[in-house]
Amino acid sequence: MADCLFCKMISGEIQPDVVYETDRVLAFRDINPQAPVHVLVIPKQHIPTINAMTDQALAGELLLAARGIAESEGLAEGGYRVVINCNGDGGQEVFHLHLHLIGGRRLTWPPG
Ligand code: 5GP
Ligand code: ZN
Repeated sequence: MADCLFCKMISGEIQPDVVYETDRVLAFRDINPQAPVHVLVIPKQHIPTINAMTDQALAGELLLAARGIAESEGLAEGGYRVVINCNGDGGQEVFHLHLHLIGGRRLTWPPG
């Protein structure tokens, strides 16, 4: 999608700090990190929200990418959080599906 920020990262028009990439998944550091590690994991296909996610294999690839990055970032033992915000009440701001991988500090629960 021409006017989608994350699609511009996939096309190379904008170059994020990439930490992981496959033919179907891209992961890069969040520009406004909420913790010492804050990585966004996205499908290369433009899917606006998790409401539109139907590809079970791709959903698994995204989740396992987050798990693997948590491991390589040294978060696995101490713990971390994987979050998907959806639409207005979920606080979604970028309408290209993404998983937040957040860790490296003690996180509070419940979210505000
Ligand atoms: P959402 O609120 O949609 O779940 O999360 C969007 C995330 O994208 C936010 O954490 C925000 O900091 C991040 N973000 C917004 N613009 C950019 C950008 O240009 N580059 C990167 N790396 N992250 C961005
Ligand atoms: Zn997009």
